[in-house]
Amino acid sequence: MTQSFAGPPYGLDDLIPELAVLGRRTTLLLPKSGSPEVRESSLGGPMLWPADEPWPSCGQSGHWAWPNEKTPAGTVPMVPVVQLFARDVPELPFPEGLDVLQLVWCPLIHPHDRACAALPRLYWRNEADVLTTGRLQEIPAPQEGEYEEEFMPNPCTVSPTSVVEYPNWDLPRKLRQTLQPRIEEPEERFDMEYTQLACALQNKVGGYPAWNQPPDWPTCDSGHRMEHLLSVTPEEDLDMTMGDLGGIYMFLCRQCPELPYAHRYDC
Ligand SMILES: [Zn+2]
Ligand SMILES: [Zn+2]
Repeated sequence: MTQSFAGPPYGLDDLIPELAVLGRRTTLLLPKSGSPEVRESSLGGPMLWPADEPWPSCGQSGHWAWPNEKTPAGTVPMVPVVQLFARDVPELPFPEGLDVLQLVWCPLIHPHDRACAALPRLYWRNEADVLTTGRLQEIPAPQEGEYEEEFMPNPCTVSPTSVVEYPNWDLPRKLRQTLQPRIEEPEERFDMEYTQLACALQNKVGGYPAWNQPPDWPTCDSGHRMEHLLSVTPEEDLDMTMGDLGGIYMFLCRQCPELPYAHRYDC
């Protein structure tokens, strides 16, 4: 039997009812190469940034770019990666009074972190406040030698699409053992591993990280386990290979008022 799917869900909770309670809604962003406007949700597009706030830069010692592995002198401007307006991702709870989520990263290789990859930073804002202040008209761009091509996203519009995901590696071991015989049925039917059926390795908001490697949930300094906020993955339209990473996952603690966040690289 063959069926075609745009992505999850694959009706897994019909086949395996025990999964239903573990389902989490996630919003796939489905980037398409284009010319997003500054007040539109985008990947790699222009950002609504307040004129009175300096554009972020990275001065981490030892970050470098191919081919010469040179570290640029001075700091390097970060690049826009994700901008989401609350109106486009209604299932993502925004902190009170805020309605824009922005992710930027330094597009160099950071070998001192857990993997060799870009270094992300997260911002929350209020759109009306930025419009009142006035927006930064010219976002500085890194120059030759100040970026690694693999981490420079091509501007893309997004088509937020809500789906349900289930834990893949986060599925409790005992439950996995119990369900194993029934997991094999959809695996054969769709000719895919359960890990791919359950969870989308795509650019998305919420849901479960599609770990390629054993789960590595960060905790904040107060010991709260963070929630998965955002996954950024290499997709064709983004024209960004991200080295050999499966993705960069962003996590957030909503229990702490300063909204601490962390990232994980998945290889
Ligand atoms: Zn850097
Ligand atoms: Zn916390």
